[in-house]
Amino acid sequence: MRIDLHTHSVVSDGTDTPADLVGKAAAAGLDVVALTDHDTTAGWDEAVAALPSGLRLVRGMEMSCEGRGDDGDPVAVHLLAYLFDPSESGFVAERARLRDERVSRIRTMALRMAEDGLPIDPDAVLDRAGPSVGRPHLAQALVEAGVVPSIGDAFTELLSTRSRYYVPKADTPLADAVQMVRAAGGVAVVAHPLARSRGRVMALGQIEELAALGLAGIEVAHPDHGADDVRVLTDLASSLDLVVTGSSDYHGDNKRIGLGEFTTAPAAFEALVDRASGTEVVAG
Ligand code: AMP
Ligand code: FE
Ligand code: FE
Ligand code: ZN
Repeated sequence: MRIDLHTHSVVSDGTDTPADLVGKAAAAGLDVVALTDHDTTAGWDEAVAALPSGLRLVRGMEMSCEGRGDDGDPVAVHLLAYLFDPSESGFVAERARLRDERVSRIRTMALRMAEDGLPIDPDAVLDRAGPSVGRPHLAQALVEAGVVPSIGDAFTELLSTRSRYYVPKADTPLADAVQMVRAAGGVAVVAHPLARSRGRVMALGQIEELAALGLAGIEVAHPDHGADDVRVLTDLASSLDLVVTGSSDYHGDNKRIGLGEFTTAPAAFEALVDRASGTEVVAG
């Protein structure tokens, strides 16, 4: 059994349509794939309709949250939400708010760039993006305009949290997010908690508080985690009785990683499914 529980499509900041993504997941030899676009479920129906036989689909999402760093300052944290009821009204409203935050924040970042003379058209960036726009869409525009050679360079030079163009967004407080996912019958797994290449990371002490609120697991195997991170997080998960997952965080051409390069153990997957009551795993 090969299980990859974290992927992105064009509905957020990946480059494959949901239909292409499930096709590629089957071709990569996966048995289970989760579609986890940022702050939206807009890709779910297309992925279900295109699901190849033999592949199972976990309908999920990666939610933009705000946690705290070791210094107590706010830090962006991603929460994977699986198998929740997409019609639960409080959660629907919060997802819409997060997507609105994304639009206004990317517009402000693009305007700052344009004012500085960079060849970026804020409307064109927003028009090309799907329902959940993000910094990778700005990165693509910067590459296409010849400002930087690659998406990675766009992040290092112009889009990082240290950049003069960076604008934060008002994400969901982490504890509220875990409670919303649970209230919608879903299971919550904290995504790549030690991915330092993206900027500051959360203080791990928060994970114990989140476990008390119903957090189910920690994403441990991930392209942005080193061997030390994996050890620290494995120990933490075992001390708190949390499920350990692994996933590629596939973004198509926006990142170098392939589907199934990091995976989740079958027993961990079953433990997550057992705790969910919002939607079923779909079998193709
Ligand atoms: P945003 O959601 O708009 O804050 O943008 C964050 C997204 O940018 C993440 O979900 C990643 O997909 C992507 N990202 C972050 N850092 C990098 C990087 N160094 N290179 C490529 N993509 C990145
Ligand atoms: Fe992303
Ligand atoms: Fe993430
Ligand atoms: Zn992701």
